[in-house]
Amino acid sequence: MREIGHFVNGAIVGGPPGAGRGDVFDPNSGAVQARVAMGDAALVDDAAQAAARAQTGWAQLNPQRRARVMFEFKRLVEARMDELAALLSAEHGKVIADSRGDVQRGLEVIEFACGIPHALKGEYTEGAGPGIDVYSMRQPLGVVAGITPFNFPAMIPMWMFGIAIAVGNSFILKPSEKDPSVPLRLAELMMEAGAPAGVLNVVQGDKAVVDAILTHPLIRAVSFVGSSDIAHYVYRTGAAYGKRVQAMGGAKNHGIVLPDADLDQATNDILGAAYGSAGERCMALPVVVPVGEKTALALRERLVKGIEGLKVGVSTDPDAQYGPVVTAAHKDRVESSIAKGILEGAELVVDGRGFTLQGYEKGFFIGPTLFDHVRSDMTTYQEEIFGPVLQIARANSFEDALRLPSAHPYGNGVAIYTRNGKAARDFAARVDVGMVGINVPIPVPVAYHTFGGWKRSAFGDTNQHGMEGVKFYTKVKTVTARWPEGEVEDSAFVIPTMR
Ligand code: NAD
Repeated sequence: MREIGHFVNGAIVGGPPGAGRGDVFDPNSGAVQARVAMGDAALVDDAAQAAARAQTGWAQLNPQRRARVMFEFKRLVEARMDELAALLSAEHGKVIADSRGDVQRGLEVIEFACGIPHALKGEYTEGAGPGIDVYSMRQPLGVVAGITPFNFPAMIPMWMFGIAIAVGNSFILKPSEKDPSVPLRLAELMMEAGAPAGVLNVVQGDKAVVDAILTHPLIRAVSFVGSSDIAHYVYRTGAAYGKRVQAMGGAKNHGIVLPDADLDQATNDILGAAYGSAGERCMALPVVVPVGEKTALALRERLVKGIEGLKVGVSTDPDAQYGPVVTAAHKDRVESSIAKGILEGAELVVDGRGFTLQGYEKGFFIGPTLFDHVRSDMTTYQEEIFGPVLQIARANSFEDALRLPSAHPYGNGVAIYTRNGKAARDFAARVDVGMVGINVPIPVPVAYHTFGGWKRSAFGDTNQHGMEGVKFYTKVKTVTARWPEGEVEDSAFVIPTMR
């Protein structure tokens, strides 16, 4: 059986003796396709030492030379797009076109990182006082780490290491143990692109490796993306060990549909955003909020019709809109949420449980599921389901519709469908959510803007990528300089002021 190792100090290494192996499934067939070697604290230490050794020289290169490595990395990843997308689909279960999108969205952050010399320019004030100039510079933190979820095994690692490395840090990546191959491959390609050994390391594993990262004295900052309880744990623990931490959590994004919306377009978009990637996206739209009875009826009718036309298939099927979920355990969790929704009194309009594909009876498939009359006090509304389950939560008015996502414990993304610019503008300004789409279903910001939710969707105060990413992975040093000549100036015994 294929064994997936770690990448430390520029070489693939096997699992430490005594450490376990994790099963990596083929979600289409349900069979175990590979075993991932789990790391431990000693391996994290090896990676941290290698990273620290590499970092000094890497940071001393001028930023343009680091940017050239990013350009070459982008070229190599693009040249291997087919291989990476196939590997990603085989472990995650998302369809190939979606896997290419996963790689592509990560590459867009690498493109941003190619311009890092510009982003690293400091600030300068000439003549801040008599003969005094002040300037500030952004310097890398040293060794930093990223812990990533299963649902974007290419994009999210690149969000993190793309910027962290370009600004002069070295990096330890702890990918999801459910689909660990693509992150490993990316590390190999980064080295092939010219990054010195130790600049990008991958340590596979689970909680033991995460805890070793959070407590390691050489690691200065930790970026995390995953579910909210673990994000909060990582945030608290990392901070307690004196690290800078940004920790993105779960989501429950709402799609608001006002009565004047283009319903055909909205339906189309909502179907894609709710069921694409089997609903395993933190920017999916698992809740739709039609405003008014008439809108609800018309939308529901269109959604049901749209669901009838959806094709669920194996991840290699070019005609399939989505594939299986990632593991059997995840399938069970999603199906028990569906059962709970029924018990709570929501109306199950389309039931995706029990869906099977001929020849793939043991695959982790769930058909598209639709609930109506979902209320905000139901736990299945409050909780993230992270599967192909769409809930209709009806609203009576614009204010009602605004209140739902604003009062929800998660605040990652939200979308509004309307032809009324004033209503959309008002909604975007007042909604208590971090990323807003106006007639855009999945408002993941472009790489040179920044990604981050609010409330339980993110702990810490800097977002991913864009200038926020540059800020997260650098510290500011401010220099106040004067060059006195001639007579000795009297030193003041009070705090100096710029008069
Ligand atoms: P997860 O929280 O189970 O795992 C995330 C990472 O944490 C993995 O690397 C995992 O190995 C590690 N981990 C798991 N259990 C741990 C523990 N007890 N202690 C320490 N570390 C632990 O998340 P997942 O299932 O891989 O990914 C799906 C979740 O990620 C969803 O909640 C989704 O909304 C969220 N997500 C959020 C964003 C965002 O930007 N807000 C983006 C993508 C995914």
